[in-house]
Amino acid sequence: MRKLVIALFAIVIAGCSSGPEKINVDLDTCAYCEMKISDSRFASQLITSKGKVFKFDDHSCMVEFQKETETATDARLYVAGFDAKGEWLDVNEAFFAYGEEVRSPMRGNAAAFKSEREALEMASRVKGEVIKWAELVKKSE
Ligand SMILES: [Zn+2]
Repeated sequence: MRKLVIALFAIVIAGCSSGPEKINVDLDTCAYCEMKISDSRFASQLITSKGKVFKFDDHSCMVEFQKETETATDARLYVAGFDAKGEWLDVNEAFFAYGEEVRSPMRGNAAAFKSEREALEMASRVKGEVIKWAELVKKSE
C-alpha cells in the first residue's frame, strides 16, 4: 500500500511540472493579441515558474507578452518547430529563419527550427537570415 501511495504521489508531481502543452488549432487563442491560433507552425508558449501556460499564435506575441508581464521573467519559453511535427523547442536552442517572406500570422516573421541547416534552407528560400532568440527579441524593440 505504501508503495502505491508513493507511486501516485510521483504521478501527481510529474503532472505539476508541466512541459509544453498541445495547441488546439482554431480553438486556443493567443494570450497577447487574442487571435485564434490557426497555424501551429508559428505557435509558441510561455510557462511560468508556477506552471501556468500561456499560448501564442506568433513568436512576436510571446516577445511582447514577456516584456509587459513581470511574472513572466523567470518563465520557460518554447516555440513550435516549423516542420509541424508537434515538437517544442526551447527558445535558446532554436534557430530562426527570419524575413518578411516568412509571413507569420502577426508578422513576427520568424520560423523556428531545431537544426541550423534547416533554418538556413528556409532563410535562403525567403531571402531572409538565420538568427537566435536574443536577436529576435531585439528586433521587436
Ligand atoms: Zn498573438
